[in-house]
Amino acid sequence: MSRTRSLIELEHLSADEIAVFLKLARRMQSGQPKPLLRGKRIALLFYEASTRTRVSFEFAAKLLGTHTSVINATASSIEKGESLVDTGKTLQALGADCIVVRHPSSGAPHVLNRNLQVPIINAGDGMHEHPSQGLLDAYTILRHKKSLKGLRITMIGDIQHSRVVRSNVHLLSKFGAQIVLCGPPELLPEHAGALAPGVKVSRHIEEATRKADVVMMLRVQKERLAGLRLDANHYIAHYQLTPERLKLAKSDAIVMHPGPMVRGMEIQSEIADGPQSVIEEQVHNGVYVRMAILSICLGVQ
Ligand code: ASP
Repeated sequence: MSRTRSLIELEHLSADEIAVFLKLARRMQSGQPKPLLRGKRIALLFYEASTRTRVSFEFAAKLLGTHTSVINATASSIEKGESLVDTGKTLQALGADCIVVRHPSSGAPHVLNRNLQVPIINAGDGMHEHPSQGLLDAYTILRHKKSLKGLRITMIGDIQHSRVVRSNVHLLSKFGAQIVLCGPPELLPEHAGALAPGVKVSRHIEEATRKADVVMMLRVQKERLAGLRLDANHYIAHYQLTPERLKLAKSDAIVMHPGPMVRGMEIQSEIADGPQSVIEEQVHNGVYVRMAILSICLGVQ
């Protein structure tokens, strides 16, 4: 058995290290699941709402033969005031071999990682990163395009608050994709262009979608707006993905969304359910990618 490791962010992984996750995910998808992690205990510690990420980590862990336990902030001692580190130490003392954590504060998985011995997997921390989503998005793109290099990948919406954007930008730029970030000024700071090499910022959805290979739509993160008032009608008029706007992208462009979608806000149903949408496939692929993440983090491949 090789060494265990945590997965906190994609920013500091090399393209080669990322490729190891993608390759193992392909292997996981092509064969029958094997109980590689039989008997291990995986704790899923969720301080924020989640459907896709939580269920797919749980299914992935079970397909690998583990025992899982889901801890929700509202139904545990967290409600009684227990700190993050104390909760982590409790799970470790109970025999958890790995903790998957989602938290509203950026950096929370780092704190657990510094204070515990078991591997920590970041399932989304505040506005920082969502590495398993970044990996499953790249995996999904690669099922439709030969390579990430040179692809024009446009992300539209609430760039400012999106951990999905940060993980995707870090990953995709390491593989030579051209990234265009588009959104209203209050949700897209000018400095977003400096996130990684090859990132451009655009205020106009028509300019951003033109000749795109991938159009990734994002939800407005109401829970992180902190008093910022957004005019929904203005947003829909200028930033919603409509069939007319999608026509500006390449004819074989794919449409992605990390979910949850707010139909009629950032995306029209006609597109979400249309032939270019790979949104359900992203969800499906998430299970294989998370099987790969759990195996690598627990040192069993
Ligand atoms: N599910 C993603 C996340 O947890 C995106 C979103 O919530 O809009 O970051």
